[in-house]
Amino acid sequence: MQIAKRIRRLGTEGGFEVLVQVNKLKTEGRDIISLAIGEPDFDTPQNIKDAAIKAIKDGYTHYSPSAGILPLRESIARYVSKTRGIEVDPDEVVVTPGVKPVFFNSILSCINEGDELIYPNPGYPIYESVTNFLHGKPVPLPLLEEKNFSFDVEDLQKKITPRTKMIIINSPHNPTGSILSYNDLKAVAEIAIQNDIWVISDEIYYNITYDGKFQSIVSIPGMEERTILLDGFSKTYAMTGWRLGFGVMKKELAAHIARIETNVDACTATFTQYAGIEALEGPQDDSLAMVEELKKRRDLIYEGLNDIKGIKCLKPKGAFYVYPNVTEACRNLNLSDSEALQQYLLYKGNVAVLARSCFGQRNKGEREEYIRLSYATSRENILEGLRRIKKAVEV
Ligand code: PLP
Repeated sequence: MQIAKRIRRLGTEGGFEVLVQVNKLKTEGRDIISLAIGEPDFDTPQNIKDAAIKAIKDGYTHYSPSAGILPLRESIARYVSKTRGIEVDPDEVVVTPGVKPVFFNSILSCINEGDELIYPNPGYPIYESVTNFLHGKPVPLPLLEEKNFSFDVEDLQKKITPRTKMIIINSPHNPTGSILSYNDLKAVAEIAIQNDIWVISDEIYYNITYDGKFQSIVSIPGMEERTILLDGFSKTYAMTGWRLGFGVMKKELAAHIARIETNVDACTATFTQYAGIEALEGPQDDSLAMVEELKKRRDLIYEGLNDIKGIKCLKPKGAFYVYPNVTEACRNLNLSDSEALQQYLLYKGNVAVLARSCFGQRNKGEREEYIRLSYATSRENILEGLRRIKKAVEV
């Protein structure tokens, strides 16, 4: 029996593989502090859970329209209009089980074989994996530490060819926690408009910012018609396991994305969608308190890491990740790269982190070593993790 060749082009998320390793070590009785996983450790707010339970009791347990129930699409349209300052029609919204499907469906709908797609590197590994799988050509755009993990505009310009069909941006950014400045967004917008290119703006961490709000590229004149805005409930409302996300895009494209949903998922779980309405329309106190707490943890981990010999890091502005430079630590420990450091910290230090390679291949000429740590875990865990890293690294 054969397995189709195309499946070999599909990548994965390193984070999930490390999770398997961590769980194995834990079942063997090892006490591991995990700073690897990218999800809030907070519970989903009670009002959202209650809304889902009520929806089940009220009988919302059947199929819904593939694009999502109208009241949720209306809620999303209002939320996006208010936060991004654009007019949104509910027909421009597609609800999916998490942001991942709407991303996949967007590539499936907009990229032909051989079309080039520019994506941030380091970056969320699914961008490259899905592009390869769907026969697009992923073109990495290096994000540079010396530019606060933004990109070089000239470099972006040089990567544009007649085959470029899409640019992906992700801000606040996984894994670096950086936020693109308005000037950077304007540069992307100008290039996209000039060359008639789609932009996917992955704004899943939109509400998790610490030093002022981030502006969306969709608000820039001329961008609404070519932007596919992705956002969702996984991070803002600690709902990763619920599977609820959405895309906002022009109507014609939204209809194709919904048709793919008809073919693949039929729809997002109906009672989950009712919980989504409560998330957007109900009190925001729990979500705001979560961001306040994450900010304290950000400060803690930022200071703690910079206090370790051989590690230095920039202060992240959003999301819940920090991406320190560990070149010197690797050198001091005689480790070849950050993958070796990841293994060393896990097996010798009992701390799980993710190596650079979990976020795409090294850029040409990239010589520095980095790891990603998630601070979506308790302050006690962060302090204990930092203590263990310091002990393991400063030998
Ligand atoms: N985009 C980015 C940048 C992410 O970091 C993640 C999750 O880690 C996602 C998308 C996927 O979100 P969801 O769980 O809603 O599918």
